[in-house]
Amino acid sequence: MATVVSPLQAGATSPLLGNALSNYDRAAAMLQDRYRADMLTRLRHPKERIELNLSPTLRDGSIHLVKAFIVRHSDGLGAAKGGIRMYPMVNLDDITGLAMEMTWKCALIGVPFGGGKAGIVADARALSPYDKETIIRSFARNARRHIHPRIYVPAPDMGTNETDMGHLKTSVAYSEGTATTDGCYVTGKPVLLGGIPGRREATGRGVAACTVQALKLRNLPIRNATIIIQGFGNVGATTALLLHQMDAKIIGISDITGAIHNPKGLDIPALEQHVAQTGAILGFPGGAVIDPALLLEQPCDVLIPAATANQITAANAPKLQTRLLIEAANGPTGVAADEILHQRGIPVYPDILCNAGGVFVSYLEYTQETQAEQMPEEEVNARLQKRMTEKFNLVCQTARDQKISLRDAAMYLGVKTVCEALEAKGRLA
Ligand code: NAD
Repeated sequence: MATVVSPLQAGATSPLLGNALSNYDRAAAMLQDRYRADMLTRLRHPKERIELNLSPTLRDGSIHLVKAFIVRHSDGLGAAKGGIRMYPMVNLDDITGLAMEMTWKCALIGVPFGGGKAGIVADARALSPYDKETIIRSFARNARRHIHPRIYVPAPDMGTNETDMGHLKTSVAYSEGTATTDGCYVTGKPVLLGGIPGRREATGRGVAACTVQALKLRNLPIRNATIIIQGFGNVGATTALLLHQMDAKIIGISDITGAIHNPKGLDIPALEQHVAQTGAILGFPGGAVIDPALLLEQPCDVLIPAATANQITAANAPKLQTRLLIEAANGPTGVAADEILHQRGIPVYPDILCNAGGVFVSYLEYTQETQAEQMPEEEVNARLQKRMTEKFNLVCQTARDQKISLRDAAMYLGVKTVCEALEAKGRLA
């Protein structure tokens, strides 16, 4: 195995996969004295990469070709876990990079899952609810043999939500002829279909918890802290609302349609209402329109990218005027930007820590469902808060002890746990 030439070269295909591999390679270099080189090489590669061609018949009556992908990077710690991204530009390499990051995220946050991810090449914003449901059900039918509580358990990601997970779950149940609440085939579904209260907000809640802790380390109170958030979907909007409720000032928000800025703070509940009515943040009267790229460069205490990958680059990293960067999105900071921010003394709290609240609560949903239990929201939130704080402190402590970046510390902890599990297994098949 040590001599196998990797077909996955850092940066060769998708920037997202390139970043994931670079981050992994630095962690593997730190662990090379403790673990076998062939095992570390093996972990650069996913276990399974699947490409599907779906044929949904949409409302217009014609059969469409919709590509979909599933990647299981590792099941070293358990069934592969990771969301379904519905995005027009998603490709198999992006999904591979995201699945790989899920492996380390699950290991870091301490849940018994491996890393997986799925992608559907479609524009969620442009689809009618009818056509979106048809595509999700087509995905469920075609991917049926890959989705299982002991193989791969999907969840929402960019472009998919709780309703879609309900459709996925019921499609599986219809095909099996079982009750819709039988078996944890998917997490992040409606509570009445076996979901858990608090899952929808869990990722944002975890991001907010990390933001509060990170400000505390700088002796900055959350009250009146100035915050800019890129993305106002599930994660961005929940994070914004929770921080607003703690009296932070959310001074800028962007979404795919544009960006708004108000140094005095935006009224987040009113903005949520506006987005629910119009589908976009633009047109909200409480803030001035600003170029979305310039918004990221405005002075603030905390910048939270909560949209898509590679938004902080070598081009804008020198211009950021934030004290802290909290990664809510997956892979928002490129490798070169990471280095620039490190040189500039701006700490980057990494995605595999900050957005792990979602998969942690997915684990609670999985446990609840497999034990036919019901967990109240207060318990879910209390367990989430406790786990996020513990892991936040562990990552910061590791970074301090080893004099490495926060990202390297998080990666080191995640990769080390997976290596320990593989060693415990003995000979690998
Ligand atoms: P979502 O589809 O609910 O929302 C995405 C938001 O980002 C929308 O407001 C969209 O308009 C905006 N957006 C997209 N491209 C943009 C751009 N170029 N500039 C500005 N805004 C843009 O998705 P989500 O579930 O909130 O996920 C957001 C990020 O968080 C993704 O990177 C996802 O992988 C990550 N994440 C999500 C979860 C989860 O539980 N949903 C868990 C972990 C990580």
